[in-house]
Amino acid sequence: MQCELCGIDAAFLKRVIIEKVELQVCPKCVNLGVPATSEAKRNAGITGSVQEGLEKRAVRMQRKDIYDEMSGTKELLPGWGEKLKKARESKGFTWEDIASRVGQPVHAVAKYEKEELRPSDSVIAKLEKELDLELLETVGVIHSTGGGGPKGLTLGDLLKEAMRKK
Ligand SMILES: [Zn+2]
Repeated sequence: MQCELCGIDAAFLKRVIIEKVELQVCPKCVNLGVPATSEAKRNAGITGSVQEGLEKRAVRMQRKDIYDEMSGTKELLPGWGEKLKKARESKGFTWEDIASRVGQPVHAVAKYEKEELRPSDSVIAKLEKELDLELLETVGVIHSTGGGGPKGLTLGDLLKEAMRKK
């Protein structure tokens, strides 16, 4: 059984209402919503299965936004250009080597090291993989907009935790 909110496999799922949508969620996500009693459903305006389907689709889209937002909270570490250079030199790579490994022109790699050009997120991921280093730090957290969640624990935290377990 998969939690419809965070996507982890859970032995038990509970039906709750989150943001007017009825979802089957894992025990971790239960506190983000209210139990899906018939009264709660009526209050949330959930009437039929068609609407439920549409709402679920909306939540899936919303969930994608959360992921996008999470990646958007990552910033390049201070001195990332220097880190890149040191990591490259320690592995004995030339600019050309790196350029071909990450699929970018040589002059772009040279500019990354001087921090004159910011690599795209996908290039950053490749650089981190090829050079075995971290270039990003996470700044800020996403706060759950769903009511009733426990204080101090954000939806972003839950999602991160779920992804780490995969
Ligand atoms: Zn969950």
